Amino acid sequence: MFGRFKYSDEVFYGEISNGIVISREGDGKTYDIEELEVLPPCVPTKIICVGLNYHDHAAELGLAVPEEPILFLKPPSALLGHGGKIIYPKSSQRVDYEAELAVIMGKKCKSISYERAHDVIAGFTCFNDVTARDLQRKDGQWTRAKSFDSFAPAGPFLVPADEFKADNAYIRTRVNGEIRQDSNISNLIFDVPYLIEFISGIMTLEVGDMIVTGTPPGVGELKPGDLVEVEIEGIGILGNEVV
Ligand code: MG
Repeated sequence: MFGRFKYSDEVFYGEISNGIVISREGDGKTYDIEELEVLPPCVPTKIICVGLNYHDHAAELGLAVPEEPILFLKPPSALLGHGGKIIYPKSSQRVDYEAELAVIMGKKCKSISYERAHDVIAGFTCFNDVTARDLQRKDGQWTRAKSFDSFAPAGPFLVPADEFKADNAYIRTRVNGEIRQDSNISNLIFDVPYLIEFISGIMTLEVGDMIVTGTPPGVGELKPGDLVEVEIEGIGILGNEVV
């Protein structure tokens, strides 16, 4: 498992093993993970998100299964690491969590087929597509609602593509320890290779770019003071407090 970390002014990628982080920046220095700030595990040029993409979520909303993925972007400036604080904006009265699986690209690529999709993935991480629901409804389009600083928690770490099977793993949200979302990646309408083929057919994907695959049923509200955790089996737990 790999992560990005900060120690005083120094930012580096490291490999995590039994609570120890080994820097990948040449010197191979080691740190106790407790002494490091955990940063989002990649530096994307763009975060491409998918709207309605779980069969059980479509059923919950009484909506038809979409014929093609519904895409939108979140800006990289919204990224937040594990342990960082989600800032509740003054302009919203309704902020929701959305647990999602994120794919991190490992190669610059364009027009990748379904069959070759695995070759361009660096790995996977947990993502929380935090959304100001009232502003999403009011604006009609989603940029403001999805783009506040801290509205893209990602992490805690990157699990390499070969160590995670993106077709069967539970995905859960807990708020203050209580389970709010509980589904499985197997319920995805458009699976990871399909999304890579579809999105890379539109735009060039760069190393570190994120494809965020949509949320299962049980989306709901966050309040200041809440601790929200997104857990994906085989990846880990992304935890963030709302302030
Ligand atoms: Mg979402």
